[in-house]
Amino acid sequence: MEGQENYSNTKKDKITAVVPCYNEEEVIDLFYQEICRVAEQMFEQADFEILFVNDGSVDKTLEKMKKLRQQDRRVCYISFSRNFGKEAAMYAGLEHATGNLVAVIDADLQHPPKLLIEMYRSIRSEGYDSAAACRVSRKGEPKLRSFVSRKFYRVLAKLSKIEVVDGEVDYRLMSRQMVDAVLKMSERNRFTKGIFSWVGFHTKWIPYKNVERAAGKTKWSFWKLLKYSLEGIIGFSTVPLALVSGIGVLFCIGAFITIVYIIIKTLLWGDPVGGWPSLACMVLGISGVQLFCMGILGQYLGKIYLEVKNRPIYLASIVEMNHDREEMKEVKPEDSV
Ligand code: UDP
Ligand code: MG
Repeated sequence: MEGQENYSNTKKDKITAVVPCYNEEEVIDLFYQEICRVAEQMFEQADFEILFVNDGSVDKTLEKMKKLRQQDRRVCYISFSRNFGKEAAMYAGLEHATGNLVAVIDADLQHPPKLLIEMYRSIRSEGYDSAAACRVSRKGEPKLRSFVSRKFYRVLAKLSKIEVVDGEVDYRLMSRQMVDAVLKMSERNRFTKGIFSWVGFHTKWIPYKNVERAAGKTKWSFWKLLKYSLEGIIGFSTVPLALVSGIGVLFCIGAFITIVYIIIKTLLWGDPVGGWPSLACMVLGISGVQLFCMGILGQYLGKIYLEVKNRPIYLASIVEMNHDREEMKEVKPEDSV
């Protein structure tokens, strides 16, 4: 049976599944059932910890989490004092995870929990540090959204050293070593896909077909995604700043050529007054470019401002864990061959 192979571990692994949840009352039970089925299949190789992160939901998500914990001690949860966003929820989950392998997975079943079996196999028998899912089709996603996100990842790859694989989603299983590396990046402007790529490690890409949400609706609007994309570029690339300098240099060259032209023209034909329309166009054009460049500088300045304030990434009002992290940390990949 799948997932029942012998990986000759000296100690059983512990997999923490970090599940960010924001208003997911409709799917959380379904998700729990599905992941329990996977845990059953992997019973011989690994124990599971299901760590829900309630990201300030305003529906019954927290009540459902509490109920699940009463039924099953493998379920743990952290509840935020308000909505801090999925990136913060993932960070909190990684910080509290006690497993020697940690997975991040969506609650809406768009990330099939079954894939964990293959991910686990990649790490344990093929020697990868991480196994990540990438969707091969974008079925069920609006066309404009797919188009913009494809273009964005291409631009990001060009502007920074960050390689985001086409179709990459926030669904992966990681070794403890990689989780600790991700946690070391405690920036407030969190673009997790970029962070995963930045920390490196040997990652196996596992393709899967996009599935639609089991229930509930997406929390991402087109504008939210666009903002997220810009954050990705600003967080991982300084090319826009170099672009500003480039524009400045171009304008200086243009100004120099224009000055030479005006001097020669004046010497040859005198200096009849006129040409104010062209002057007005130049003033408007150049001030437009200046404001645009200041806007780019402002974006970086804004990010620096938020970073230096050093505010916490999230605030938790409830943390319900089993407190055995230290013990679990001792299980290292070297223990298994
Ligand atoms: N999510 C979250 N905080 C937010 C928005 C989303 O924790 O502010 C969670 C959400 O509950 C889900 C996952 O992030 O488990 C992905 O969200 P969603 O399904 O809305 O995104 P999509 O799949 O449409 O990209
Ligand atoms: Mg989803």
